[in-house]
Amino acid sequence: MPSLRARLYTTGHPVELSWNHGLITGLASTSNPASTLPWLAPPLVDLQVNGFAGIDFQQDDLTAPALLQATRALHQAGCGRYFLTLITDEWPRLIRRLQQLRQLRLQLPELSAAIAGWHLEGPFLSTEPGYCGAHNPALMPEPTADHIRELRAVAGTDCLLLTLAPERKGAIAAIQLAVELGCRVSLGHTNATAKLLEQARQAGASGFTHLGNACPQLLDRHDNILWRVLDLPRLQVSLIPDAIHVAPPLFRLLHRVLDPARIHYVSDATAAAGAPPGLYTIGRLPIQAGADQIVRQPGKTHFAGSALRPIDGVFRAAQMLGLSWRDTWDAFSLRPARYAGLNAELRPGAPADFCLLELEESEPALRHLQLFRAGQQIA
Ligand SMILES: [Zn+2]
Repeated sequence: MPSLRARLYTTGHPVELSWNHGLITGLASTSNPASTLPWLAPPLVDLQVNGFAGIDFQQDDLTAPALLQATRALHQAGCGRYFLTLITDEWPRLIRRLQQLRQLRLQLPELSAAIAGWHLEGPFLSTEPGYCGAHNPALMPEPTADHIRELRAVAGTDCLLLTLAPERKGAIAAIQLAVELGCRVSLGHTNATAKLLEQARQAGASGFTHLGNACPQLLDRHDNILWRVLDLPRLQVSLIPDAIHVAPPLFRLLHRVLDPARIHYVSDATAAAGAPPGLYTIGRLPIQAGADQIVRQPGKTHFAGSALRPIDGVFRAAQMLGLSWRDTWDAFSLRPARYAGLNAELRPGAPADFCLLELEESEPALRHLQLFRAGQQIA
């Protein structure tokens, strides 16, 4: 039975991890001197990935090898599973894209294991400037029961996360139906009133997508979407921890105000993530990533997704919060997994999926990362 010794990321104690036929069979304390061992942690789970390593997922002619290339680069960045994210486009085109992506995923077991679900960010978002972000307001219909049923039928039994704006006409009924049909609904790209946000929550919306973004640069100091969401209990909030999308002081404040269990991280990565600075696309939009890792539409000020690798997000969050990476790891692994209904715990009986990390003496620089799925090294 294969096994290895490592330091458990939560306790720092040496453990022996053993597995058989892809499942963990034991996780027991050992007496090895801990400081010589690599760290053991569950793989990262990213619920918002629009593209990676030069590959834009918003393309009609995406191939399985291209998708595999992006997926392997995500593995090298500590991410074992992700929700492939499609952003606003014409509805029939989005539906076709989802059908094609499901076909691609079926072609390769590696893709089936890595793509844990689909995140549709749009097209039912706010058309208001600032709130729509890089999404095209001309391609945003009002959500109807037919849209939701069609989406559910095309996605089969796959995990589905839908980001929408509750102020769109018909949105509350759409949320209720989507949740009844087994989707998770997260609010986002919205300027909804407090009353509407609460109605959306009561209809079954459970999250808020990349809080602190998808809103104008200037907000009313008395009443704005940030205050309204922070005043609303029980929504699971995602944040982009690249120290760019959410300024470090706000990032710290959000962690003080919200119960940590209610925060998880997403990369919102584009093709520019895990790739050199340069010109890329997100759908039909050209985007440009500078050496500062800021991704913008050329000539515009607002951000258009990120160039963040998930593993870097863990370290940057730790740096912003003045914590160890061990304290921020769960926000990019167990917590998004739990929100999405995935199992990611390291425990006997669970799949032998894990990361081994070696760090420089001067934390938090990463020296080496290995990713295992079902006991096999995949990165
Ligand atoms: Zn967005």
